[in-house]
Amino acid sequence: MIKFLKSLFNLPSDICIDLGTANTLVFVRGKGIVVNEPSVVATKILRGGDYEILAVGNDAKKMVGRTPCNIRATYPMRDGVIADYKMAEEMIKSFIRKANKNILFSSRVIICVPYGATAVDRKAIHDSAMSAGARKAVLIDEPLAASIGANLPVESAKGSMIVDIGGGTTEIGIISLGNIAAAKSHNVGGYKMDEAIKEYVSRNFSIKIGDSTAEDIKQNIGVAFISSETEIRERVIRGFDIHEGGPKEITINSKHVMESLMPLLTSIGDAINSMFDMREVTYDLCGDIARDGLVLSGGGALLRGLDEFLADYTRLDVKVSENPLLSVISGLGKIVEDEKHFSMIMDASA
Ligand code: ADP
Ligand code: MG
Repeated sequence: MIKFLKSLFNLPSDICIDLGTANTLVFVRGKGIVVNEPSVVATKILRGGDYEILAVGNDAKKMVGRTPCNIRATYPMRDGVIADYKMAEEMIKSFIRKANKNILFSSRVIICVPYGATAVDRKAIHDSAMSAGARKAVLIDEPLAASIGANLPVESAKGSMIVDIGGGTTEIGIISLGNIAAAKSHNVGGYKMDEAIKEYVSRNFSIKIGDSTAEDIKQNIGVAFISSETEIRERVIRGFDIHEGGPKEITINSKHVMESLMPLLTSIGDAINSMFDMREVTYDLCGDIARDGLVLSGGGALLRGLDEFLADYTRLDVKVSENPLLSVISGLGKIVEDEKHFSMIMDASA
């Protein structure tokens, strides 16, 4: 009945945003996920330093790497915190408008922010939502949303560990009693993995490849751990010959990719291990995690064998959340759909 009345009068609805470094997702209460697009803005630079927004999201991503010199494609959140405030604001506004087009009055907007976001970043994100017409903007820390989305028992008096590997950062959090007991943002994520693959093929095969080829190699033939069951895949790739000039073709396999990623994977393992040295992590919390292990979320969790690698490296039980790319947005969705249940979190974040 309430749903029917709301649709009749176009009453405001809650809008949740997972503002990721690689992908932005928007959830509208009662409708589900309405936007799932790359966090990219394409602008045309005008004379006098002014700019015009050409595209945001999917349409803007198609322009990355292929833009003429007066068109610029920007990832405003690239390093986990805001790299470009103006573009971040344009992106937030554009996605809110996209989600909000059938809603007459302004809505409450709940935005997930990286744990490493500074007070200035948080204010900028808050203000962007307000200037896009939000009635109220609430910010929630990413590890908290990710752990709710990954179905961890966040409100119990027991520590749960979430490791969310996104494009720009890995966010590690220990959650207990509906709050973050300890967390850190480690500046290694999917983008650095792509860079490492590019450097590796340049050093070992003398070819230059583009970002999208590197990402494709990582996602399709990459592995983090090789066991007797691991399928070793190979792929022919094309790039620019560093010595001879012109195009060159080489064959790369899963073992090469693992070798290129290893320093980054061990740094993620070290970041997890170092959580236990934090003052906030009591012996009891430490014991809970030693017993229950950790859950991986974020797109990086989809790297083949990463769970086995981290289990081996940290000596913890490691599980991958059911749908890693959707953990944060489904966590935000659960909070607004069941606000009474998550009142502790809404109170803390308001
Ligand atoms: P963010 O929250 O920072 O926007 P996401 O959680 O959306 O990031 O994850 C995006 C990252 O996940 C990208 O770097 C992408 O290359 C990586 N990714 C997606 N699928 C895979 C896969 N199958 N293997 C390895 N990395 C992946
Ligand atoms: Mg994310």
